[in-house]
Amino acid sequence: MNDSFLHENLKDNITYSGYGVGGGIAIGTAYVYDTNLLAVDRYDIASEDIKKELDRFLVAAKKTRRQIAYLQKRARNFPGAAREELGFLFDAYDQMLKSSRFMRGIETRIKEELINAEAAVQEEIAVMVEAFASIDDPYLAARIEDVSGVGKRLVRNLSIKKRPLFSSLPKNTIILANELTPADTLFLDPKKIAGFATVSGGAQSHIGILARSLGLPTVIGTEGLIQKAKTGDMVIINGNSGKIIIQPSEETISEHRILKTNYLNLTRSLKRLSKVPAITTDGTLVKLKANIELPSETQALIESGADGVGLLRTEFMFMNRKNAPNEEEQFNALKSLVIRMEGRPVTIRTLDIGNDKMVNDSLIGIGKSPNPALGLRGIRYWLQHEELIENQMSAILRVSVFGQVKILLPMISTTEELQKVRKIRDDIARSLRKRNIAVSDPLPPIGVMIEVPSAALVADNMAWHADFFSIGTNDLTQYTLAIDRTDNTVMRLYNPLHPSVLKLMQLSTEAAFKARIPVGVCGEMAADPRMTALLVGLGVRELSMPASSIPWVKKRLRQISLRDSVVLARNVMNQCDSKKIYQIIDDFEKASTTKF
Ligand code: PEP
Ligand code: MG
Repeated sequence: MNDSFLHENLKDNITYSGYGVGGGIAIGTAYVYDTNLLAVDRYDIASEDIKKELDRFLVAAKKTRRQIAYLQKRARNFPGAAREELGFLFDAYDQMLKSSRFMRGIETRIKEELINAEAAVQEEIAVMVEAFASIDDPYLAARIEDVSGVGKRLVRNLSIKKRPLFSSLPKNTIILANELTPADTLFLDPKKIAGFATVSGGAQSHIGILARSLGLPTVIGTEGLIQKAKTGDMVIINGNSGKIIIQPSEETISEHRILKTNYLNLTRSLKRLSKVPAITTDGTLVKLKANIELPSETQALIESGADGVGLLRTEFMFMNRKNAPNEEEQFNALKSLVIRMEGRPVTIRTLDIGNDKMVNDSLIGIGKSPNPALGLRGIRYWLQHEELIENQMSAILRVSVFGQVKILLPMISTTEELQKVRKIRDDIARSLRKRNIAVSDPLPPIGVMIEVPSAALVADNMAWHADFFSIGTNDLTQYTLAIDRTDNTVMRLYNPLHPSVLKLMQLSTEAAFKARIPVGVCGEMAADPRMTALLVGLGVRELSMPASSIPWVKKRLRQISLRDSVVLARNVMNQCDSKKIYQIIDDFEKASTTKF
């Protein structure tokens, strides 16, 4: 990880630094995907197609007006001044889309310049923007954005492409984007996309996590990247060091080819570890499980030799769609995974949407929260949506007969929430059995994510009610330190080794130990081999991570002893300074790195 955001111009390279999410090195051709711009193709049309093009434009304009009417309706619920301001804005939009000079301008361009509608809209917008910009009036100058807003909406409605057509990109493409949403990543085909870099995103944001699970070389949080790069540029991404090099010299390319080969060789050599046990030098077994974000990861999971699925983020089933999946659809998706795991445990987490894990607004109806990380997220949302509860819990209970299923609850902050879910599980199981639908006996255990500080602080009580704990260090760090995990401006302060975070983890592991329930870690900290000894020393016996990290963590585990790890954890827990903690961990790593 590199914390410098500056870019430097070397002889013939432009180098950027961001957060390396891992995945090794990619050398390929850039595709710049700037979601702030209208990427519009301009093409000529035949004169006999004018009518068709005009009709296409009018349909899009009608759709845009409908959307604006909807926005107008929503704006009416806003308080005073905002309602008025938005009212004016949407009226102005609507006026533009009626038979106005703007509309006539576009039609004329289509008819006279014989160009496609998208290009006509963009050119007309450009003329208006220029006219506005030359007026020496701050209010009118600010309207430029409004004008382009209508243009963007029109172009989007004209475009058949609802999503970036990543699938049509040539092999070995490297995507450079200002932003990729978790939903966008579902369209990334690792056979074609060699890597990607984004301007936005913190290391623990979901885009980072998804990137890690795709196993692609990825760098995120790279300010200034989009302005300098062009589609077609040669580019190198080093997901390990966080470096991006645009237009590299021949020498730099050769160097990186060697680095890439070394990395691939190392990964291959680690593969043989999939068959050996995850055990410390003094015989303590630690379960290494996989986190799954996307169904496509199942194969990698099986190949990694994972002891099961430690965290199935069910959010993926709800992405890129207008309607929530029904019980049957969820059942089928879960069933195929549980069967493929052949009896190894599958920990299914109930839907955790909200904050940066957004799905279609209309699907979830969360609306805009003033502070989404603290809003209706995870279990809070789930417990308020009966249909979701019914569908998801029934699907989970129905698949419980096909393997070893566990239920995991996100964002739990009180013991009552857990008890509510236990009752829901029991009620739904009873009703399924009444309908002669089989569910496992005993019912799947229910575990709690320890990721909200309040849960850690009442872990001693919670542990008596939960069947297992899974510490979510990503959110636990975010909520303990008040650092938004997606915001790269505060990413330097995001620190899972902050003594406060470690204390909460220790409270949780001790509580689990007293109540004799298993405790694992499924946050990204579990994937970092430098943290393995500390976590084991704190009493964690299950680590869940992206499948690609399992060999690295296993390798580390086989180098350390439980005895030394306990001493390490004790030393770390005596510190109140993060720098000292890093130092102790570094020293321990140097002293205990032997051949595996
Ligand atoms: C966590 O918060 O550590 C976790 C594993 O959950 P997610 O990253 O899905 O929020
Ligand atoms: Mg979480």
